[in-house]
Amino acid sequence: MSKIALFPGSFDPFTKGHEDIVLRSLKLFDKTIIAIGHNTQKARYFDLDKMVPLIKKVFAKYDNIEVTVYNELTAELAKKYQAEFLIRGLRNTTDFEYESSIAQVNRRLYKELESVFLITSHKYAAINSSIIREVHKYGGDINEFLPYNL
Ligand code: ADP
Repeated sequence: MSKIALFPGSFDPFTKGHEDIVLRSLKLFDKTIIAIGHNTQKARYFDLDKMVPLIKKVFAKYDNIEVTVYNELTAELAKKYQAEFLIRGLRNTTDFEYESSIAQVNRRLYKELESVFLITSHKYAAINSSIIREVHKYGGDINEFLPYNL
């Protein structure tokens, strides 16, 4: 059976740190699905209709990387895709605290779902979507943090 992994996140915006996690995940899994969680009640900073094609273009040459948008429990989405692995990136101990709680809940919701944590590559460790939004808001150039040009 092929190993399918789900990489869920807000990706507001999708950064070089996220790209690095996706590419590294291919060493472990047959297929990785980038799942953009979209809460219709919560406004995004970067427009989803623009972000999705940009991410798809970054991975256009990979037929084992998919991009999808969802608005439901991550565990439910994983079941739909028959994904038994959930990938998350870890930058620091704050990420770890938060991620371990989410992983426990997800395991309860979907017993077969194994959360797999990839430690950030050093050069991308400081890249953080919320800081990028702030820089962009005040007119700073953010392209060096992104795997595409905005
Ligand atoms: P969420 O709102 O679900 O935390 P994010 O889009 O901020 O969504 O992040 C998605 C995943 O990517 C999380 O596991 C996060 O820890 C990880 N991540 C965020 N930034 C980086 C980075 N620079 N390098 C590696 N992983 C990262």
